Amino acid sequence: MRLITYILTIFAATLLLAFGQFSLPVTITGHLKKNPKNTSTYIQGIVVFAKGDNKILAKTLTDDKGNFTITFTPKNEKSFDFYCTGLGIDTLLLSSVTTFESDTPEMTFYVPGQHQRNSFSKTICPKCKRTDKVYKIEYEDAPVMTRQISKSGDTTYSPIYKGTYQESCIVGLARFYCNRDKVKF
Ligand SMILES: [Zn+2]
Repeated sequence: MRLITYILTIFAATLLLAFGQFSLPVTITGHLKKNPKNTSTYIQGIVVFAKGDNKILAKTLTDDKGNFTITFTPKNEKSFDFYCTGLGIDTLLLSSVTTFESDTPEMTFYVPGQHQRNSFSKTICPKCKRTDKVYKIEYEDAPVMTRQISKSGDTTYSPIYKGTYQESCIVGLARFYCNRDKVKF
């Protein structure tokens, strides 16, 4: 009988520990701000969503000042990616982080994002933090699609043409595209 009590106590303690480690929700106080370089953007009523390992963790709307709160419970995801979408805004990657400084961090995002460049003045992807698959987006009336035939004979069309990502005539805010992560920013 005493052994069973002992085992149950250990079991309960383990459960509590596991629960404490993996199930603490993170509540972010977020601010969407206009990029000083392009102030034509709306920051009100914009959908902001967080993705972890390509799954949507939570979704919210900004208020009339561009502020929002978003809550989700991290479960060992490799990274947390913040996107926004809304009137006249294609889905933009705002930021990608691997950890949070606290359970209630405050984060500010710019729309469109402030693009970071490396020392060769190549634009860095906010997700993979690399430059080698980043393409500048060109807005064209007639976007060029490049036909690619794979080894197995399948034909696919790629919007990447002569080193740029070809986008249709609706001008969006995204200026770059990462072909590794399939994100616009
Ligand atoms: Zn990338």
